[in-house]
Amino acid sequence: MKELTHFVNGQHVKGTSGRFADVYNPALGEVQARVPLASKAELDAAVADAAKAQVGWGATNPQRRARVMMEFVRLLNRDMDKLAEALSSEHGKTIPDAKGDVQRGLEVIEFCIGAPHLLKGEFTDSAGPGIDMYSMRQPLGVVAGITPFNFPAMIPMWKMGPALAAGNAFILKPSERDPSVPLMLAELLKEAGLPDGVLQVINGDKEAVDAILDNPHVQAIGFVGSTPIAEYIYGRGCSNGKRVQCFGGAKNHMIIMPDADMDQAADALVGAGYGAAGERCMAISVAVPVGDKTADALIEKLVPRIEKLKIGPYTAGNDVDYGPLVTAAAKERVLGLIESGVRQGAEMVVDGRNFTLQGYESGYFVGPTLFDRVTRDMDIYKQEIFGPVLSTVRATSYEEALAYAMDHEYGNGTAIFTRDGDTARDFAARVNVGMIGINVPIPVPLAYHTFGGWKKSGFGDLNQHGPDAFRFYTRTKTVTSRWPSGLKEGGEFHFKQMD
Ligand code: NAD
Repeated sequence: MKELTHFVNGQHVKGTSGRFADVYNPALGEVQARVPLASKAELDAAVADAAKAQVGWGATNPQRRARVMMEFVRLLNRDMDKLAEALSSEHGKTIPDAKGDVQRGLEVIEFCIGAPHLLKGEFTDSAGPGIDMYSMRQPLGVVAGITPFNFPAMIPMWKMGPALAAGNAFILKPSERDPSVPLMLAELLKEAGLPDGVLQVINGDKEAVDAILDNPHVQAIGFVGSTPIAEYIYGRGCSNGKRVQCFGGAKNHMIIMPDADMDQAADALVGAGYGAAGERCMAISVAVPVGDKTADALIEKLVPRIEKLKIGPYTAGNDVDYGPLVTAAAKERVLGLIESGVRQGAEMVVDGRNFTLQGYESGYFVGPTLFDRVTRDMDIYKQEIFGPVLSTVRATSYEEALAYAMDHEYGNGTAIFTRDGDTARDFAARVNVGMIGINVPIPVPLAYHTFGGWKKSGFGDLNQHGPDAFRFYTRTKTVTSRWPSGLKEGGEFHFKQMD
């Protein structure tokens, strides 16, 4: 069986811990490789080498670092098909979706080509007699990223791009479910000219993560994954004195006002609810139509669209809408939540529980499922399902719909569909959620804006990518200088006004 590696000091390196995790082809339900799970000693050794490599990389001028990023973009485009194939085979998402995964990471790398500009400091000329004051952004040293299975290309690039362009060394601990693409990204960065040791990819599980959290050389950690792990990493990382940002789970609501274009809203809901089998942190999992008339019209439009969805393996071609869930455990969990919805009294409109596909009977497929008349006390409403399940919660007014989105513990994304500018503006201003769509179901900000949720969806002050990422992976140093020609008298003993 294929044995994957770590990528350390510019080379593929076999694991020495003796522990491995199986990597599946989720469409077939078969193990296709195994990935080593690093020990604390392996992680610590990679960090120590990264610390040495960072010295030269941090001293390399930002324009040269940006050129590595530019070449990386070219190589990503060159290898797009190869990356997408590897990604789909381990994750299960369709090839167009896998290419989108690479593309949205690549766009952040493009943004990082602007590092020389983004790292420019500030300067005040003649802050006092002969005194100039300037601030600069310096890399932190060795920083780390811990990433989830659902975007194995995009999220590692969101983390490593800004960190590396800012002059840090980067330790990537990708998801053990789909580790091949992160390893391929490391190969491409080496080919693009990144010095050995500046990017270390260490595969692993809790042991490797804990070693990152406790390693004194690791200055900052960017995490993306489920909320319980986000809270754990934020707590332990912060108490160890590190800079930490953690992005967690989601339960994104889409409000449909009575004046919305119902065809547009139904199309948007089907794509945002079922695309990538619902395994997106920005998926819409709750539809909130305002008024029974809106709800009835929406359900009527949704059902034929959902029944037309084509589910299959990534190898079946580009007209497949979505693929399997990532693991057998994920499938079991989603099916269990669907059962709980039935048990707790939600109205099942489209039932995806018994979906099977000839030739892929062992694959982790779940058919699209639609519930109506879901209430806030049900588990399918309270929990993140992370599967192809859409819950409809009927609201009687705009204020009630707004309250649903506001009261939920998650606050990653939300959307409103309406033709009324006042309502849309009010919603965007008042809702306590990090990313808002107005007639846009999945409002993922582009690379030059920042991405981040509120409440239990995000922990820490700064967002991912955009200018925040450069703030997160650098620290500011401010210099006050005075040259003798500006001095009129001797020493000073008190703070005073500079003029
Ligand atoms: P996960 O929390 O299981 O794993 C994320 C990372 O944490 C992986 O690298 C994993 O190896 C590590 N990990 C898992 N258990 C751990 C433990 N006990 N101790 C230390 N480390 C551990 O998440 P996942 O299933 O890979 O990804 C899906 C989740 O990620 C969903 O909740 C989704 O909403 C969330 N997500 C959030 C965003 C965002 O930006 N908010 C983006 C993508 C995914």
